[in-house]
Amino acid sequence: MDLLEFQGKQFFAKFGIPVSDGEATTDVDEAVAIADKVGYPVVVKAQVHTGGRGKAGGVKLAANAEEARTHASNILGLDIKGHIVKTIWVEHASDIAEEYYASFTLDRSAKLHLGMLSAEGGVEIETVAEENPDAIAKIHVDPVAGLTEESCRAWVEAAKLNPQATDGAVDILMKLYTAYVDGDADLVEINPLILKPTGEVHALDAKVSLDANAIYEHPEYEQYDATQPRDDREEAANEKGLQYVGLDGSVGVIANGAGLAMSTVDVVNQVGGSPANFLDIGGGANADVMAGALEVINNDPAVKSIFINIFGGITRGEEVANGIIEAMGRVQIDSPIVIRLDGTNAVEGREILQPHLDEKLQMQETMLDAARTAVELAKV
Ligand code: GDP
Ligand code: MN
Repeated sequence: MDLLEFQGKQFFAKFGIPVSDGEATTDVDEAVAIADKVGYPVVVKAQVHTGGRGKAGGVKLAANAEEARTHASNILGLDIKGHIVKTIWVEHASDIAEEYYASFTLDRSAKLHLGMLSAEGGVEIETVAEENPDAIAKIHVDPVAGLTEESCRAWVEAAKLNPQATDGAVDILMKLYTAYVDGDADLVEINPLILKPTGEVHALDAKVSLDANAIYEHPEYEQYDATQPRDDREEAANEKGLQYVGLDGSVGVIANGAGLAMSTVDVVNQVGGSPANFLDIGGGANADVMAGALEVINNDPAVKSIFINIFGGITRGEEVANGIIEAMGRVQIDSPIVIRLDGTNAVEGREILQPHLDEKLQMQETMLDAARTAVELAKV
């Protein structure tokens, strides 16, 4: 669950992290009223679920009401990487001496939390990681032991921030770690974390991703859930009760069982293709479910081929084959389909499919060959 910047700042503020005074609005007149209230100069900031807003013209300083009005009306409606700005945040502008980067996330391979801190902030951390990896100081934190002030201070010193910023940074990072753990976040990032000319350290931006599975412990997270960007494909699949996750590729994937569906996504990648989705139709795989699955995938304009990967367990091959044939009679499919059918009664199932095979419906014996064929067809 990704928060908008202002939601992230409100989340930070609950844990005592200093952020600028401001308010969110969808209206130009109201933006000017907020600017008058928080005091000039102000920053007008686009609230969208993507970074790089500054470069895209979504972050502007205003010295007076007239400028605030101009920026507010220019930023509302702006398209930032496909995200249309509907909400802006107006806050009192800060003086900046230096810009840093700070974050906590989970390092799955180390099975530990990972903190990253860099004196090179304000730019994308991926760029720093590529061009100057030594400029990022990392700390692994054992979730049981937690972050001690002593290790936090050593970490801050390793990052070589301005010594003036040390105490403020330690204070904020301790609070940021608490926000990350107690707030059930997957990611908390401050970029830039700033040192003001007056010596205070302050969060100027907020990127927070909360664990949606923890909503039951935080009823107030419902408000964040409500502003999540929606994937139309996922909405349609959810309505049909399908386990679907939208991805960016061109090979539509249908498999029975979550493990097989994940393997299918992997194997499509392995042979040089890119999956358009994860879709687990579960056991059973009758014509209704198959038709629903094909419909959702067919409605995705990015899909160029469809890979149906079925391994019959309790579900028998002939049932699946009949389900596929019946579903294809009900839904007009635009992309070629490649089927791999194996497991219980696979031979009977393949016999049923045989007379229906043509360019638009192909069959392969192995998962790997089926993946290769589907990927080839997606490139045509
Ligand atoms: P992002 O581009 O989406 O990451 O948006 P940020 O909130 O990080 O803002 C981008 C840049 O705008 C920052 O790195 C700052 O350089 C600048 N900026 C943002 N807020 C202020 C402010 O209050 N004062 C000043 N002087 N610059 C700001
Ligand atoms: Mn930023």
